Amino acid sequence: MNNLFLKEFETPFQSIPFQNINQEDFKPAILELIEEAKKEIEAITNNSEPATFENTQLALENIGKKLNVTATTFFNLHSAETNDFLETLAQEISPILTEYGNDITLNQALFERVKAVFDNTDPSSLTKEEFRLLDKTYKSFTRNGALLSEEQKQELRAIDKELSGLTLSFSQNVLQETNVYSLRLTDEKELSGLPDSIKTAAREEAQKRELEGWVFTLHHPSYVPFLKYADSRDRRKELYLASAQKAFKDNEYNNEKNIHRIVSLREERAKLLGFATHADFVLEERMAGNPVTVFDFLNDLLQKAKPFAEKEINTLKEIAQKDGIDQIMPYDHAYYAEKLRKEKYDISEEALKPYFSLTSVLEAAFVASEKLFGLTFNKREDIQTYHDEVDVYEVLENGKHKGLLYTDWHPREGKRAGAWMTSYKGQYKENNKDHRPHISIVCNFARPSGDTPSLLTFSEVTTLFHEFGHALHGILADTIFESLSGTSVYWDFVELPSQFMENYCYQKDFLSSFAIHYQTKEALPEEEIDKIVASSNFMEGYQTLRQLSFGLLDMAYHTGKLGKEEGIEKFEKETISASQLYPTLAGTAQSPSFAHIFAGGYSAGYYSYKWAEVLDADAFAYFKETGIFNPDTAQKFKTLLSKGGTEDPMELYINFRGRKPEADALLIRAGLQS
Ligand SMILES: [Zn+2]
Repeated sequence: MNNLFLKEFETPFQSIPFQNINQEDFKPAILELIEEAKKEIEAITNNSEPATFENTQLALENIGKKLNVTATTFFNLHSAETNDFLETLAQEISPILTEYGNDITLNQALFERVKAVFDNTDPSSLTKEEFRLLDKTYKSFTRNGALLSEEQKQELRAIDKELSGLTLSFSQNVLQETNVYSLRLTDEKELSGLPDSIKTAAREEAQKRELEGWVFTLHHPSYVPFLKYADSRDRRKELYLASAQKAFKDNEYNNEKNIHRIVSLREERAKLLGFATHADFVLEERMAGNPVTVFDFLNDLLQKAKPFAEKEINTLKEIAQKDGIDQIMPYDHAYYAEKLRKEKYDISEEALKPYFSLTSVLEAAFVASEKLFGLTFNKREDIQTYHDEVDVYEVLENGKHKGLLYTDWHPREGKRAGAWMTSYKGQYKENNKDHRPHISIVCNFARPSGDTPSLLTFSEVTTLFHEFGHALHGILADTIFESLSGTSVYWDFVELPSQFMENYCYQKDFLSSFAIHYQTKEALPEEEIDKIVASSNFMEGYQTLRQLSFGLLDMAYHTGKLGKEEGIEKFEKETISASQLYPTLAGTAQSPSFAHIFAGGYSAGYYSYKWAEVLDADAFAYFKETGIFNPDTAQKFKTLLSKGGTEDPMELYINFRGRKPEADALLIRAGLQS
């Protein structure tokens, strides 16, 4: 068979030969590589020798390298440059790969051998990295029920099956309730306050539905600006209520029963696997480690941020009073916050953009990486890409090859929205050869047009630095095992490098070094820089409380606090009362549309947004103390980045910082400490 993916790539650095890919090859290659992998697994389980780290764990780790490259290439293209063929193919390939994954984690014979190694190996005979790999592998089986009796296993499968149905139904209800609602206005007076672009979009929405007037919906691009700008308080209230009652009304899409069932099944599942609660189960594989740590973390921040949030709301109350509003309500928040923001900062995104050409921002990220980690980026024209707009850089460390970086900046039909970092090839070492990673950053920044280069908003500048931070985590990887390499770390640790890099965007000297007007070559005026820095903390107290309330709610559900017959509205109100600064409206609740935790992967994990902020602020504070490009500090951070998941993240952090992370730096940065 002449299938590209089954052969060695004869390209520089064995990079993906994108231009020679025949998309018809993906499926047969994946099927064949899975068969190959299965045979290799059989060879492990059929081995008559006693199980050892080498003949079991190491053998298992080395299986499926080619399959990984083929599958990641497929899914990366599916995200960045898809077409009808790839869309159809994804529907076929996804279940095939899920089944293959299950074939491994549910393979009892394989587990028996892994368990034998786990039980019989003296950890001191292994390196730290080897032990982490073994532990991770062992848990990938036991957390899926490998230690349970046959009967219990069936129970577990039944729970999983019911859960996947329930979470699907949860998100379908939210989607349905979001889509079905619309607010139609026919009197232009009621649009007062709205920017023209929002009015136009609302008009187009109405036309699409063959209606007169303007139509607003619960989708973010419509809902958020309406609450922010619409002068009509009654209409704001109407739209707010529709959102706050989403999936909580007396109809078939009410999620209250789903929540009860999901929460109780998750608890049952956790107990079956030997954990006290679902949160204990989830947090076993997180840096935070256990529910007590997370509750302490959230409550501590709550106590510290609350006085600041109260002050912010009082300021808004004063402004609202001038409009004759005695009792400010949740549907007034965004409106008065926007008024205050305009009064205080009035930063025009459009006016700033000429100072942030993509070229100069990218160059700044290169400069920072060189100063910090000694990396240089060499553009290569001889390496194939999947689109003309994609660039490739060879990354060098003191002149030595360190990896490849693909960059794909602009939106195209066939690229999904957002920004992300991914990899085509992972980093690992085998037989003294260091296989270097091939990393990619994909964004959706405006493309150049005519004489105008691609210009970024300030928030896109931070996005570029964010994704660059993830990319550095991948590029600097220096581990033996691919499963522990680069960004293969605990979930509440993975945003440290990315958010860390964002900090550089707020450093005055550094910012002014690259914020240069692309036409006049003038530097961004200092007062604008001051405004950017100051406005980054706008309403930070309130925002913090909001994030904490979601985190606390999530933790309460997943540590068994919800009574069997307890109403969601009451439970929610009581759980987050300490973090609420506005009156709650009767008949509303957030939980029924809290898809992050009930339909997405964030259960007992919502806290990690704030957790990661604490980490990045604390890490960056160390740089600020010693100099933001201090070589010794940078070297320590480089070590942390290079180790990926080969050590416990808390240990890695302590080795870098000399102590555990502390929240003070975040509070100072956010202006929440006097
Ligand atoms: Zn990220």
